[in-house]
Amino acid sequence: MAEIIIENLQKMFGEFTAVQSSSFTIEDGEFFMLLGPSGCGKTTTLRMIAGLELPTSGEIYLDGEEVSQRPASQRDIAFVFQMFALYPHMKVGQNLRYPLISQGMGRAEANAKVAEVAKILGIEGILDRPVGGLSGGDRQRVALGRAIVREPKAFMMDEPLGALDAEFREHMAEELRALHDRMGATTVYVTHDQLEAMQMGDKIVVMNHGVVEQFGTPQDVYDKPATMFVADFIGAPSMNFLTFAGSVRPGQDTVELDGATFGVPRQIGAAQGDLVFGVRPEHVGFDDASPYRGRIDATEYLGTTQIVTVATPNGDLKARIPSSEVVREGESVGLTFRAETITLFERSSGRALR
Ligand code: ATP
Repeated sequence: MAEIIIENLQKMFGEFTAVQSSSFTIEDGEFFMLLGPSGCGKTTTLRMIAGLELPTSGEIYLDGEEVSQRPASQRDIAFVFQMFALYPHMKVGQNLRYPLISQGMGRAEANAKVAEVAKILGIEGILDRPVGGLSGGDRQRVALGRAIVREPKAFMMDEPLGALDAEFREHMAEELRALHDRMGATTVYVTHDQLEAMQMGDKIVVMNHGVVEQFGTPQDVYDKPATMFVADFIGAPSMNFLTFAGSVRPGQDTVELDGATFGVPRQIGAAQGDLVFGVRPEHVGFDDASPYRGRIDATEYLGTTQIVTVATPNGDLKARIPSSEVVREGESVGLTFRAETITLFERSSGRALR
């Protein structure tokens, strides 16, 4: 069990900053996601936590102890790679026993431990099989078993399901999450897949260009994005951004879009200039009485819902509405938005206004 605190962590490769003063806390037992596009510094962050890479500056605390400059072997953290490295010439049971025996554990104790882990993973029946002939899923389970059997303080997983096809991936994701819930070990998981992060994570760190854009629960990052990057990266289709010139001051709870007044969450700060009215597709309402008009440009059928693209005076937006609602391309529609679903951003900084 482990709590991991990251403080102002930074990693330079020569002149290049891969991770910039990142700070966040991973609580004991959490399933914690590092999410972001390719090259944003997720893997580098994970490797620093595991001790496979040393930070240029900043601190990592593992259960209150500063471990930033300690080698991986002294951190008691298991790293699960995307390409699971198993010993192909060994049987499943031997693969699981190996980490224990090489730690000096006696054979009887090791066998008992292996049996326990095999039961958790549901692979008791294949302990005598060579790993060479196993299915992808069983290989994955054996590799996880290899990481679990040592009972490390925490698990680091770098896109462990990245190589699997979509259907199987979803199945393994569920298994991994269920396994975590049974064992309760702190797990840090790297992914570029926002859906995977939202479905599996207790908390998510969203990274972009080496910077932590936001850190919170899946609900926090979805409902209260801190930046336009987060609002855009999380959710599919992503949040709509309607640009307008205006200003907000503390206490204000409306803004004007093309002459129409819309309620927004009561503002704490002030801003002026180019502002952005952010609304998720499922929060766009159609109401002919609304003075704020748009033209339907396209519809995309998705089964129970459809995605409707509407050209508005402030840019295109996508609305997710039930497929039972009949809309026609070229038609003019009135648009409504509920105040509590709106996020305002400052265009220049991309930061959410609160
Ligand atoms: P991906 O999903 O593509 O692996 P990532 O978010 O995990 O992306 P990192 O692997 O952490 O990103 O890499 C962050 C940046 O640091 C990238 O631009 C990468 O090229 C660079 N980088 C990583 N390792 C090194 C290294 N050893 N030397 C030089 N640059 C590196």
